[in-house]
Amino acid sequence: MIPYGKQDISAADIAAVNAVLSSDFLTQGPKVAEFEQALCAYTGARYCLVVASGTAALHLVVAAMELPEGSEGITTPNTFAATANSMAYCGIKPVFADIDPISYNLSPSSVSARITPATRLLSPVHFAGQPADMPALSLIAKKHGLKIIEDAAHAIGSRYSDGSPVGNCLFSDATVFSFHPVKTITSGEGGAVMTNDPVLYQRMLLLRSHGITKDPALLSQQSGPWYHEMQTLGWHYRMTDMQAALGFSQLQRLDLFKARRRTLVAQYNQALAELPWLKTPQEMEGLSSCFHLYVVEIDYAAIGKSRSQVMDSLMADGIGTQVHYIPVYHHPWYREQYGDKTGSCPVAERYYQHCLSLPLYFTLSDEEHRHVIQAIQRLAR
Ligand SMILES: *Cc1c(COP(=O)(O)O)cnc(C)c1O
Repeated sequence: MIPYGKQDISAADIAAVNAVLSSDFLTQGPKVAEFEQALCAYTGARYCLVVASGTAALHLVVAAMELPEGSEGITTPNTFAATANSMAYCGIKPVFADIDPISYNLSPSSVSARITPATRLLSPVHFAGQPADMPALSLIAKKHGLKIIEDAAHAIGSRYSDGSPVGNCLFSDATVFSFHPVKTITSGEGGAVMTNDPVLYQRMLLLRSHGITKDPALLSQQSGPWYHEMQTLGWHYRMTDMQAALGFSQLQRLDLFKARRRTLVAQYNQALAELPWLKTPQEMEGLSSCFHLYVVEIDYAAIGKSRSQVMDSLMADGIGTQVHYIPVYHHPWYREQYGDKTGSCPVAERYYQHCLSLPLYFTLSDEEHRHVIQAIQRLAR
């Protein structure tokens, strides 16, 4: 069975986790800070907080921004629900702008059209690993006084058109990564927030651990060595040292993972380009995507098969596929909460009708890759 995505755990990864298990600290030890420093070094951002999940990272940064109740945040419908959910957690109304038909990322002109006097936040997603058009989006944000959170759950290892790494926050207030096993590097569960903003960083630090601090510089009084204060209502979003050790060890191989993923994507593109009923993904000029997903668009009518039939037929060949994503506003909770937005993002809706994610992961062998390509080529027969 070839799944659409899968982690690779090396002997070094296992040794790193085992070393923590034999150490004094399973959590709140030295590994969390080591992983955070390594992520800062990799991306060039000044600050990093690693947390329990990518979702926790998104929630933490939106909460730390302390935007007024009733604010609106603009994001893409072509994402995992967590991007928009992080706004909903904080009483911010998620508003969906449409995507670009080539990059499948937020369309800057559609974002401009959705701005109202209540808009405070913009959360682009670097879909499938390809960075969104950050120069254009950050210009819009500047003009309208919006905060920007980059959801880079797909995009650790990717580079912007200026060659600098995703996560450096040169175009945003904060950038979020996820280390779920299906993502490019994993810590089991886990996530991170990168930022260059010291105030935002201090607030997130407090919120990550119940809103409680023991930092003498922050306490309102000095009573003794036991003394600590809960200064705000936070959460328990910490990462364990086992997770941090795994994430740190995986980060050492990120560039290797990226190279293999890019090779597989180039081979897919070459082999599938000739199929008139299939559209291969396009990397925008100057960007370097650390492809998390390999998404094609299929003209199901042209091959006389529904998407379900295609997925079933590939499954019969031992090949797993997936659909990324159902437009977020189609989900029942979103319809109930914010009204039926069907038709509001026609490009994303059309894309959703055709998309299919094919297997892409570091350990996908050349033989398995050929098997997938041949199974796709056979679909029209
Ligand atoms: C995976 C993912 C998340 C959430 O990450 P978790 O670590 O699973 O909580 C958020 N946004 C996007 C786009 C994702 O793919």
